[in-house]
Amino acid sequence: MSGPVRVRFAPSPTGTLHVGGARTALFNFLFARHHGGTFILRIEDTDRERSTQESVGAIFEGLRWLGIDWDEGPDKEGAHGPYFQSARLAGYTAAAGRLLEEGKAYRCFCAPEELKRRREAALKRGEPPKYDRTCLRLPPRESDARAAAGEPHAVRYRMPDDGETAWNDAVRGDVTFQNATLDDLVIFRADQHPTYNFAAVVDDAAMEISHVIRGDDHISNTPRQLRLYAALGLAPPVFGHVPMILGPDGTRLSKRHGAQSVMEFRDAGYLSEALVNFMALLGWAYDGERELFTLAELGEAFTLERCSKNPAIFNYEKLDWMNGEYFRALPLARRAELVAEHLRAEGALAPEAYADRTELERAVAAVGDRMKRPQQFLDYAAYLFVERVEPEQGPWEELLAKPGAPSRLRSFATLLEGAASLDHDALDQSSRALAKEEGVKFGDMVMPARIALTGKKVSPGIFDVIALLGRERTVRRLRDMADRIESAAGAAKA
Ligand code: GLU
Repeated sequence: MSGPVRVRFAPSPTGTLHVGGARTALFNFLFARHHGGTFILRIEDTDRERSTQESVGAIFEGLRWLGIDWDEGPDKEGAHGPYFQSARLAGYTAAAGRLLEEGKAYRCFCAPEELKRRREAALKRGEPPKYDRTCLRLPPRESDARAAAGEPHAVRYRMPDDGETAWNDAVRGDVTFQNATLDDLVIFRADQHPTYNFAAVVDDAAMEISHVIRGDDHISNTPRQLRLYAALGLAPPVFGHVPMILGPDGTRLSKRHGAQSVMEFRDAGYLSEALVNFMALLGWAYDGERELFTLAELGEAFTLERCSKNPAIFNYEKLDWMNGEYFRALPLARRAELVAEHLRAEGALAPEAYADRTELERAVAAVGDRMKRPQQFLDYAAYLFVERVEPEQGPWEELLAKPGAPSRLRSFATLLEGAASLDHDALDQSSRALAKEEGVKFGDMVMPARIALTGKKVSPGIFDVIALLGRERTVRRLRDMADRIESAAGAAKA
C-alpha cells in the first residue's frame, strides 16, 4: 500500500441511516483505525430534489450514537473540505469542462422523455437500453452553437466501444467488465449538477481517498468510475465491495423483516455497543469463533482479507442475544436506569409505580438474564405493578385442570404467613418439606403458585417473586387464586 490510508463514508442524505449504510460506515471507520488512517464523512447531496437537511441530521445523529466519529467532514473541516458535495460544484464543472474540451465527453441535448421512449423501444426489441449516441453524431459546431444559445443539455462521457475494464477488488478478487456493456454515462445533468458517479470520482481523487469500501450494490458503478479516473488522468483508489445484507429469509433486507434504521434499534432498546458489534459481523469474521468485540478491539482486528464475498444474513435473534450479553454486563444501577428510562418513554405505568430505585433494582436483578433489552422488563415483571393478576389463558386452563391446585395454594399461603422470614434458602427448605408432607412434587407445588403470583408459567425464581411482592400481597394472591379456581370449577359443575 502506498501513501496514507484515507477512506470515506459518502451517504446521500435521502432518508434515515439504515443498518446497511451504517455497516459501510463502520467498515471504513475500522479500516482507518486499523491502519492509523483517516476516516472522512462526505455528504453526497447533489440530488437537490431528494436530499434533505433532516436526513443530514439523522446521519450525524446515527453515526454519533454508534460512536463512529469522523476525522474529517462536516464540523471537522480539514484540508480537503468542504465536505458537502453541494458546496463543491465548481470542481465538477471544471472537470467536466476539461473532458468536453479533450473530446472525451460530449453534450447531449436529447430530452428526458425522448430518452425514455427510446429506452422502452429498445427493451421491446430485446436490445440493451443503451444511449443511441444521437448527440455524439452532432457536428461540434452545431453542439457549440446550441449550447451558446442556452439550450439545456447534459454532458455524457464517451465510453470506449470495446476492450474491458478490470480491477483487483480487495474483497472479491479480480472483477472484469466488457466496455461494450457500458453506456455513455451522463456525468452532468441539464440542471447543472453532476451525477453520482462523476462527483464521487472527482471527490475521491481530490480528497486523496486510498480505498473505497462500499456495498456490492455499487459494483457495476466501479468500471464506470475507473473509466472516469482514466479519462481525467487520475490514479484510482483500491476498491473493496462488501457483501449485501439479507433478511433471515434470504431476500434483501427490507422493512418487512423488521427494524431498519439505526435510530429504530436505539429506540427498541439496543445498546450502541451491541449494534456495532453485531454489524461488524455482517460480512466480516475474525476466526469464525470469537464474536464479542468492543469498538477498539474491532479496530485492531479488522482487515478486508477477513471480509466475505457471500451475502450476510441479518439475524434479529442473534442481535437480541448479543444485546443481552452487553446488557447484563452493565452494573445493576445502570440497567435499572435504562429500564426506568424506557418505562418513562413508554408511559404504560404511573411514574410512582417505579419511583423507588432500590425496589426497581431488586426487580431488575430478579428478572436477570431473561431480559435482553429494557423493553422486555414488563414481560417478566408486570405482575409487580398490578392490583390483581389476570393469568394468561394457557396457565389458567392448566390451573383448572389440576384438581389439587386450590388446596396446595392455600397450604402454601399458610406456610408463608407463618414463616419466620422470607429468606430464599429458608423458604426453599420449608416449602420442599411441605410438598413432601402433602405428597406432591416440589414443581407441582410451585407451578400453581407461580401462576397465581405472576399470571405466567415463566417468571423469575419463585422465592425472588415472593420477596419482591412481600408477604401480604403474596398470601392474598395465593388465596384469591384458590377462590377463583374453586368458583370457576363450581360454575362449570352447576
Ligand atoms: N452516495 C452513494 C450512496 O449513498 C455513495 C456510494 C459510494 O460509496 O461510492 O450509495
